[in-house]
Amino acid sequence: MIKNELEKRLNGKSLSEAENGEIYAALLELTKEKLAAAPRIAGDRKLYYVSAEFLVGKLLSNNLINLGLFDEVREALEDAGKSLSEIEEIEPEPSLGNGGLGRLAACYLDSAATLDLPADGVGLLYHFGLFRQSFWDHKQYEKPDRWLPAESGPECWAEKTDVSFTVPFLGGAVKSVMYDVTVSGYEGGTNRLHLFDLETVDESLVKDGIDFDKTDIAKNLTLFLYPDDSDDNGRLLRVYQQYFMVSNAAQLIIKELAGKGYALRDLHKHAVVQINDTHPSMIIPELIRLMLKDGIHMDEAISLVSKTCAYTNHTILAEALEKWPLHYLEKAVPELVPIIKELDRRVRAKFDDEKLAIIDEHNLVHMANMDIHYGFSVNGVAALHTDILKEAELKCFAEVYPEKFNNKTNGVTFRRWLMHCDPELSAFITRKIGDGWKKNADELEKLLAFKDDPEALEELLKIKGQKKEQLCQYMKERAGVELDPESIFDIQIKRLHEYKRQQMNALYIIWKYKQIKAGHKPARKLTLLFGAKAAPAYIIAKDIIHLILCLSDLIANDPEVSPWLEVRMVENYNVTWAEKLIPACDISEQISLASKEASGTGNMKFMLNGAVTLGTEDGANVEIHELVGDENICIFGKSSEEVLELYKEGEGRYSPAAYYPCDPEIEELLDFIISPALMRMGDPENLGRLYRDMSRKDWFMALLDTKEYIAAKERLLSEYEDRQAWAKKMLVNVAKAGFFSSDRAIAQYNEDVWHLK
Ligand SMILES: *Cc1c(COP(=O)(O)O)cnc(C)c1O
Repeated sequence: MIKNELEKRLNGKSLSEAENGEIYAALLELTKEKLAAAPRIAGDRKLYYVSAEFLVGKLLSNNLINLGLFDEVREALEDAGKSLSEIEEIEPEPSLGNGGLGRLAACYLDSAATLDLPADGVGLLYHFGLFRQSFWDHKQYEKPDRWLPAESGPECWAEKTDVSFTVPFLGGAVKSVMYDVTVSGYEGGTNRLHLFDLETVDESLVKDGIDFDKTDIAKNLTLFLYPDDSDDNGRLLRVYQQYFMVSNAAQLIIKELAGKGYALRDLHKHAVVQINDTHPSMIIPELIRLMLKDGIHMDEAISLVSKTCAYTNHTILAEALEKWPLHYLEKAVPELVPIIKELDRRVRAKFDDEKLAIIDEHNLVHMANMDIHYGFSVNGVAALHTDILKEAELKCFAEVYPEKFNNKTNGVTFRRWLMHCDPELSAFITRKIGDGWKKNADELEKLLAFKDDPEALEELLKIKGQKKEQLCQYMKERAGVELDPESIFDIQIKRLHEYKRQQMNALYIIWKYKQIKAGHKPARKLTLLFGAKAAPAYIIAKDIIHLILCLSDLIANDPEVSPWLEVRMVENYNVTWAEKLIPACDISEQISLASKEASGTGNMKFMLNGAVTLGTEDGANVEIHELVGDENICIFGKSSEEVLELYKEGEGRYSPAAYYPCDPEIEELLDFIISPALMRMGDPENLGRLYRDMSRKDWFMALLDTKEYIAAKERLLSEYEDRQAWAKKMLVNVAKAGFFSSDRAIAQYNEDVWHLK
């Protein structure tokens, strides 16, 4: 009996007497014991998924679901007048990631454990995470997001181990401490997420906000994820962090190999390393370095490591394909430099195409190029993205290594993104088609049998209504905002970046505001919800937040408009927010500039929860479109071919001058950014800068698609009014979402790349 097991841990109190905090501590302890008792997944060959980010989210419910205890615990608590979801609110969300890349890593660990594959994650234990976002005066402020328990406080999921390594730095060395988070598979065994901390880390280095001494390496390596890199010291610190991560990973891999009784020469038979984006790339020269130290020759070391490492590319944005100045590496990782130079020398001896070099003529080290030459697999993360890599961005590599390139369309775990966040919808699905879908997501297609069943469609609408009510309640408690659950919920939640084009959505809001002012009232109120963090040094992204917050305030305070339109941006968008927002969504905004969003995973979560996508033909939207068909998605905008053409040099190149001031409709929208009404509300410096940027640079071509976007959104809003037809769209989206299960993605990685079992 769960009740008894919990009460044993409550110092004599009954469940109904205990405070939520006490119950949380008891649940944490009990769940950890159950996890420890679950079988550790073992095998002769193991995957190490190395990643700078693991955006795991709160873990209590997820673990309870995977252990098969969720319903029992929830009911026991309900009988005692307690609520599991309220208790889970106590758990801090570890801020160990920035967005999709980190969330993907977390979904993949869940699926690997579910499929019984031996696969551990390796990353860093950042004490203050990314940052905690707050809004004041319509602007973003950043604070440290400390998520670890206080020294004397209760435990958390990460447990200190006695594993420690020495990492050579600056002629001296630092020591690490390994923390483990147990990763549970659905009704399966467990793997581990290994998070390395710096033994000498000093939190007191952080004084005010998120600033700290970037040069005090022996104290600062594990304070923050992505410390500000707008100066040399900040950039250098990122190199130190990356090396600290990969040196620990490499030493752990070698230690485990030895522990199994295998020689270092057998590394590639018993270990595979997945390099998640370029941050862990230095694991290649680091593994080579450790092999050389062990007496293996350079030729053999390179060959062994190349058979062990595989690389996932997550973006074609140039800014994210890391290029480190050689002199940084000479300073931070001097022992790796001769190895990297040797790797480059071999490439140059073989190929005379300068684009294939690792160290270019400006002495920049191209991390992705090293991964491609010295890894055995290179994958993109959606069909379109992989095509663009092969045919444009990495064409010269695909020509010399066609066998290395493969696609692995991203996926999300349905345990968190359906069973946990929408138990009502999960129960509906199980009532209709049984619960085979929980282990085999393709079975969701059976829902198509109910496409024309008015009762089923009615039920689906009712569930969406419930989830919207629940979000309203949560927003009221959390943000003091009262939303209208009868309105249409249109949601854009994702990192703030110009390529994702939150600014284009803001132009829609301006258009709609003006329409309502001009007397064109819509059939129904529209609620637009945003969630997004902007990187602290990304000025235009912060200006876009400023614009959205000003519009939100302007509209809320305009009695003519506020009955018809509402705009809200949630503070500190994270996994917990996503779990509340996604099930309540009617319209999923996926409006990136075609060719720029590698895949997206938010788009998949929304679809799975019965939202209809409003999007460009980009990333995995392309595959969603193919699966659901034209009637069940709203696609607009220029294609990736057209956009790639516009980026080429010469005539025909994109310029916002083609729209501003030439096009009076666009002109009117942009001019509103610097209108007296908004300038009074906001900061003229921010608004002026954004206005100039959008009208003169518009780097990610928001103006290119704005008019089509407005038309498409209006079309979709009118379709919403045919409730029966809309419910059918919802149903088809849920039914076709099976392909986007991370179980499918992981099975493909295993089949094509890892060969674990
Ligand atoms: C899924 C998810 C993302 C990724 O969203 P995209 O729309 O694919 O960029 C980012 N942050 C959180 C918290 C998520 O859960």
